[in-house]
Amino acid sequence: MAGSFDESGADLELVGVTKRFPGFTAIENLNLTIPAGSFFALLGPSGCGKTTTLRLVAGLEEATAGRILIGGKDVSNTKPHQRPVNTVFQSYALFPHMTVLANVAFGLKRRGIAHAQELAHEALRLVELDHLAARRPTQLSGGQAQRVALARAIVNRPALLLLDEPLGALDLKLRRQMQLELKNIQSEVGLTFLHVTHDQEEAMTMADTVAVMNKGRIEQMGAPEELYELPRTAFVANFLGQSNLFTGDVVTSGKDALTVDIAGIGIKVPRERAQRHAGEVTIGVRPEKLTLHPTKPAAQASANVLGPGTVIDVSFTGVSTQYLVQIPGLPVVTVFAQNMVFGPVVERGAEVWVSWSV
Ligand code: ATP
Repeated sequence: MAGSFDESGADLELVGVTKRFPGFTAIENLNLTIPAGSFFALLGPSGCGKTTTLRLVAGLEEATAGRILIGGKDVSNTKPHQRPVNTVFQSYALFPHMTVLANVAFGLKRRGIAHAQELAHEALRLVELDHLAARRPTQLSGGQAQRVALARAIVNRPALLLLDEPLGALDLKLRRQMQLELKNIQSEVGLTFLHVTHDQEEAMTMADTVAVMNKGRIEQMGAPEELYELPRTAFVANFLGQSNLFTGDVVTSGKDALTVDIAGIGIKVPRERAQRHAGEVTIGVRPEKLTLHPTKPAAQASANVLGPGTVIDVSFTGVSTQYLVQIPGLPVVTVFAQNMVFGPVVERGAEVWVSWSV
């Protein structure tokens, strides 16, 4: 039925897409399939090519090579306004002299679409702002203005919604709240969302699938938990949270586990987590997986132990405390410990061992 939000989005496919600017390759042979109705995040540091990818999909840039398909249709040569795509930017640029309702209905009216007002009300109800339809943008909070921008972008039910750091201008608390709201809205409208951000927590909170970009290429793509638990590269491990990285040589390669020599200590790595089974390897261990011990823990087949080392810094961060431990021959080890009791359990300068389960 016209005006309802029950139509689902279209899938997006990028096939060998490359974008070269004079003297600089921003995107190199990008292959990507985003299923219809999914919430997909492109995550990466500044300059990795996220915005360029969105601009290529929107038709604001022309690819040097490759094809872009929306809903199975090649749009590589389709003009931006003829693509079934809308974009929400960080600067939402509402018209200040128009009401909220007029802002949302503007595009529909200009295209002569019937029932523009009704559709605009419906979009405003979806972002829970219909009660502010008569206000002007200057009378809105940042979060409300951002929701109006979202209503304006979904009112004509594009098959694909592109979001370019849309929450970047909001303060942290509001941003966290809007992340959940956006995710709910996406599942309600069923459109395909392609969201660009450099904030790993934002990408992991909202998206079904995250693609981590680095220097114009995708390093890894998968569900948030998969990327966090099984990062394939040190870049991905460090971009999605913190990771302790230890480098050493594989000394034995057994059926279930490898043993890697780290500063003279044999560290066990489950075989299914190892991408290489011989030679020099890098082991990543999340700080929250580590436990501190004031005395040397008894050797266990199911645990690795490093130490002794010295606590060189203790930082209270609220829910957890961060300990930095210097162990001879190793880079400084970061440990996050949940704060169960008041005050740090281990003092700066203390001798400690660090362990983790295999
Ligand atoms: P940010 O998070 O800072 O917006 P991004 O990942 O979105 O970064 P892009 O804006 O896609 O990065 O830019 C990717 C690279 O391409 C950057 O190194 C940028 O300098 C370069 N670039 C972008 N547009 C042009 C252009 N018109 N001419 C030349 N180089 C460009």
